[in-house]
Amino acid sequence: MSSHPQQFASDNYAGICPEALAAMTLANDGSAVAYGDDEWTTRASDAFRRLFEAECEVFFVFNGTAANSLALASLCQSFHSVICSSAAHVETDECGAPEFFSNGSKLLVAPSEGGKLTPDAIRTLANSRSDIHFPKPRVVTITQPTETGQVYSRDEVLAISAVCRELGLKLHMDGARFAQACATLGCTPADITWRAGVDVLCFGGTKNGMAVGESIIFFDRALALDFDYRCKQAGQLASKMRFLSAPWVGLLDSGAWLNNARHANACATRLADALEDLPGISLMFPVQANAVFLHARPPILDGLRTKGWRFYTFIGGGARFMFAWDADPARVDSLASDIRALALEEHQERVAA
Ligand SMILES: *Cc1c(COP(=O)(O)O)cnc(C)c1O
Repeated sequence: MSSHPQQFASDNYAGICPEALAAMTLANDGSAVAYGDDEWTTRASDAFRRLFEAECEVFFVFNGTAANSLALASLCQSFHSVICSSAAHVETDECGAPEFFSNGSKLLVAPSEGGKLTPDAIRTLANSRSDIHFPKPRVVTITQPTETGQVYSRDEVLAISAVCRELGLKLHMDGARFAQACATLGCTPADITWRAGVDVLCFGGTKNGMAVGESIIFFDRALALDFDYRCKQAGQLASKMRFLSAPWVGLLDSGAWLNNARHANACATRLADALEDLPGISLMFPVQANAVFLHARPPILDGLRTKGWRFYTFIGGGARFMFAWDADPARVDSLASDIRALALEEHQERVAA
């Protein structure tokens, strides 16, 4: 039993979901061939091919920073550039890893609302320079859902990929929470990736119930040439690969990947709904996935901390709450009722003053 009450500061606070853990335990049966030439890794890759209805190439790495950086590096020469939103994880939270692993490919940052790139923003940036002194645009990366929890519709992805084709750019998708986007859209994974023009997807496992691990999926198999060497050189080739791949079999074969995401999303909606029309509280972004960002007056945030709640305020000073597969609805309700009580109390004090 956990000695600490559940917190929603990050979806990385969650443990391993039963389906992923069970698969890891099953994989822990005697010995198996190392470095990915094992049955579990084959099964996981095949499960992705079934899920995406495509003969994609699949790779497994330890984390999302590596997945994004290596995927982008594989699409770029060092003199190329990558168009991303100003809120993109590759820009704000990867310590320069995309530039490092690509030997210098520059990120070209577009100002964006809610972290979403638009066809216009891409076109403007891609056409801003065409001379030899500027790094040549080569890739667009979008985050699905965005870092603040907004989901690109299928039409939005299609519109972006159309501009990419027109301008000769590849399209990469950072899907650290890709399952949550699928849950929101109710689309098949194929419909919002390769059928909508995405070339490479990083599909997050960690924020979907795994202990560790992300997969990189190349829909254009030619782009995956020698990607295994890139993973190895970057220290991302797991020697006991079966423990990185087996949890995917557990998630994908059972449908837990989608159920986990639906549950996480439902908990975010549950919190947002419970806070409607409260004085001093407002949503910073529409709630479309498993994130809730709240604007709240400083005394309310202080009060929440005093009551023991943990949360981050790194985006615009608002409080971020993230929900995972294991979010306890009763705990969500208790967060909501603490916020409600603090907001009403603070409101009354302000009215009285
Ligand atoms: C969590 C996250 C990642 C992966 O981060 P790691 O800590 O490197 O696993 C990538 N992109 C987004 C949008 C994320 O939220």
